[in-house]
Amino acid sequence: MSDSGTDAAALAAELAEARRELDSRRDELQRLNRELEDTNRGIVALYSELDQRADQLREASELKSRFLSYVSHEFRTPLNSIMGLARILLDRLDGDLSAEQERQVVYIRQSAESLTELVNDLLDLAKVEAGRLDLKPTVFALPDLFAALRGALRPLQAGRDVRLVIDTGPDIRLRTDEAKVAQILRNLVSNGLKFTETGEVRVSARIVDDGGLLIEVRDTGIGIAPEHQAKIFEEFGQIDTALHRRHKGTGLGLPLSRRLAELLGGSLDVESTPGRGSTFRLTLPASVVLRDGGGEAGASTRTILVIDDDPSFRYLVRQLLKDRPEIRVREALDGHNGLNRLRADPADVVLLDLNMPGMAGAEVVEALRRDGWPAGTAVVVATSDPITPALRARLEGVAEFLPKHEISRHSLLEAIGRSAERRLKS
Ligand code: ADP
Repeated sequence: MSDSGTDAAALAAELAEARRELDSRRDELQRLNRELEDTNRGIVALYSELDQRADQLREASELKSRFLSYVSHEFRTPLNSIMGLARILLDRLDGDLSAEQERQVVYIRQSAESLTELVNDLLDLAKVEAGRLDLKPTVFALPDLFAALRGALRPLQAGRDVRLVIDTGPDIRLRTDEAKVAQILRNLVSNGLKFTETGEVRVSARIVDDGGLLIEVRDTGIGIAPEHQAKIFEEFGQIDTALHRRHKGTGLGLPLSRRLAELLGGSLDVESTPGRGSTFRLTLPASVVLRDGGGEAGASTRTILVIDDDPSFRYLVRQLLKDRPEIRVREALDGHNGLNRLRADPADVVLLDLNMPGMAGAEVVEALRRDGWPAGTAVVVATSDPITPALRARLEGVAEFLPKHEISRHSLLEAIGRSAERRLKS
């Protein structure tokens, strides 16, 4: 054998080895590919399951709202007649009552009153969830609100070992829904008084760094353990300890208060130490604080309806407008829903997507045109599709076009402003 013969054999062996290696790499690659495909299929399945779950949750939550509002409405009529009849009895319209009978009727009336309170809270919650609780912003002075609270809440403190102090607060005016702010504060103070044996419940307010208003309700009561602090904001969330159980309630006050705070563009949170007390913090956004001598007074609210099947776009719009309490944002998940809502309850401006399953945006425009533009509703088309001349012709009557990729707080507010003006003129 020559050297070159040996070399050739070695080379061949090396080549064979390399090929084997290559084959095994390729097998490995194929296996990895298959694994990847499986994983992909799994992810797709997971996604569609998540979608389904989200749909089911949305349906369940809608059902819950409808149920709550139905039940509450049905409760109101009989409750009102119980209270009315109790009043007739106590007013002795049909003859005298014995002392014992009077006591019984007073109990009946008190029970009916607390049931009414519960029903009202339920109805409010259902309305907030269905996006149907309307804000009625007015301009008012914070010291006036505090003075009114002082008067209204004084009876709650009567004969108790607890002081109720409502500080003066900054001398500012606010433009927001005064009744809702008062409703939140009344609830926080009455909770504070319920869960405080001695010491005080104090309401104070100050302007914070971002220009918003912070209102604190601080008590020296039994406090709330950290593990319970999230639960109390859940519907019917009450704490099951002997101390907390001594006071009967519905567990609806705080979740409703938080919803209302969010509706006002703010937030509601708690900080608490068991045995020391709790501080509830209500914040309101800078946009509702007036410092300019009233120049902004009287700005009226506008309603905009976002019709878009993409939840992230609806979220984006909500976020962009969240510190503008004068703009109410409503949502519809598709063209049909949107059209129905508009027919029932017209909006000032419709922010309309074009490409939606079921009824597309252009069909919504056509239907609105056939309806004669109910209440002069202005339509802003927000789309990622190119607007071709043919499409533009089909969308005749649309006030504005807003490419989705250009959307910002500024462009959105401008488009809403221009469209609403156009609407007022028409
Ligand atoms: P309700 O007072 O009708 O039970 P809320 O939603 O207002 O309903 O409060 C839920 C629960 O949170 C109360 O039952 C109580 O356990 C707890 N809680 C609320 N406020 C306070 C407070 N200031 N101090 C201690 N616990 C509180």
